Amino acid sequence: MKIAGVKGMNDVLPADVARWQEMERVAREVFALYGYREVRTPAVEHAQLFARGVGEATDIVNKEMYVFEDKGEELLALRPEGTAGTVRAFIEHGAYVEGPQKWFYMGPMFRREKPQKGRYRQFHQIGCEAFGIAEPFLDAEQIALVADYFARLGVGARLKLNSVGDAACRPAYLAELKAYLGGRKAELCPDCIDRLERNPLRVLDCKVESCQPVLNGAPRLLERLCDGCRTHFDQVKVALDALGVRYEVDGRLVRGLDYYVRTAYELTSDALGSQSAVAGGGRYDRLVETLGGPPTPGIGFALGEERLAMILEKAGKAPPAQGPAVFFVSADAEGALEALRRAAELRRGGIACDLDPRGGKLKAQFKQAERVGARYALVLGGAEVQSGQAKLKDLSSREETPVALAQLAGFLASLPRP
Ligand code: AMP
Repeated sequence: MKIAGVKGMNDVLPADVARWQEMERVAREVFALYGYREVRTPAVEHAQLFARGVGEATDIVNKEMYVFEDKGEELLALRPEGTAGTVRAFIEHGAYVEGPQKWFYMGPMFRREKPQKGRYRQFHQIGCEAFGIAEPFLDAEQIALVADYFARLGVGARLKLNSVGDAACRPAYLAELKAYLGGRKAELCPDCIDRLERNPLRVLDCKVESCQPVLNGAPRLLERLCDGCRTHFDQVKVALDALGVRYEVDGRLVRGLDYYVRTAYELTSDALGSQSAVAGGGRYDRLVETLGGPPTPGIGFALGEERLAMILEKAGKAPPAQGPAVFFVSADAEGALEALRRAAELRRGGIACDLDPRGGKLKAQFKQAERVGARYALVLGGAEVQSGQAKLKDLSSREETPVALAQLAGFLASLPRP
């Protein structure tokens, strides 16, 4: 019986993994430039961590979390996002005693959402979290990091920026928003009506066409920020301008969770269709405390690797070539043994190479060489073994270069990388 993979959970096959490795390599490179260090936390945590850390009122926890009883003992959950686990580790290991920290992670996340293009039940995020600094320049630095990352990958994205206020200015605003939305309930979609009580800020995020006139007329938090939040927001903008990072202020951009304060940002791409967000971030100055640590401000973002891969593909960015430098084609039994030996020698020297242990027709072996993406093919038979000379055939230009077998490793190592 054939058993299929789980709905909404995808395989990434070798041909596509090259692109993923590139996204992750560039992330590591850029994040290191900004002083972020990698942390690896488990994919499973106590369910309670997310209930408290992400919020019980959120869809992620409320409807979409994979929760299971571990042998009837405790409720565990597959992590739906990376921040809560990272903050837990930060607290559990007392990392705060060392002062401000910048960490990043990458790995699978799980949400039982309705699968559709760009929305999966297992997906992968790359995220950064910076702890211990409340000043706005940190926000701008992190946003610049994301912008740099996209620039290095060679793709564009729109950066939207907002302030969601804090405990000083948001409660009054929420009351005003609720009263406004409550008065126009009849014009809202069922989701909005549901959110109106649980999480009114999220109503602003609704994309349903018929809700837009109501939402466009809603009171704006940006116009009601307290002095602290206003100054913070202005400073983030000043710093982004100084760094040359382009953004647009979007007063309707929200992060749905209570602990988010002040800066909220999102990157979107037209290449993605309806699920247009590729990354989202924000400041969470109360989260560490909520999860039992000392008061520690923080800001973080997560980006979705599946969506980023789609953007790269749409932009025609080919993943880096990963084929071997040379493919040995054996003409006879003597050549086959020599190929085995030469391949071992090249690999010891760090040069990727391949061969077909079945031997067989030269034509078939050449085909195989092309299929695996080899740069060169090299035919070995008794004659080449005797003379110590062979011909290296460039598989794209079809040009042949004579080479002494003894110099093969040196020759290949000296070639510029394609
Ligand atoms: P969030 O944690 O919901 O703010 O999401 C951050 C980023 O993760 C989004 O911008 C997406 O790129 C990605 N993402 C979130 N949920 C999914 C999902 N179900 N499938 C694929 N990517 C997702």
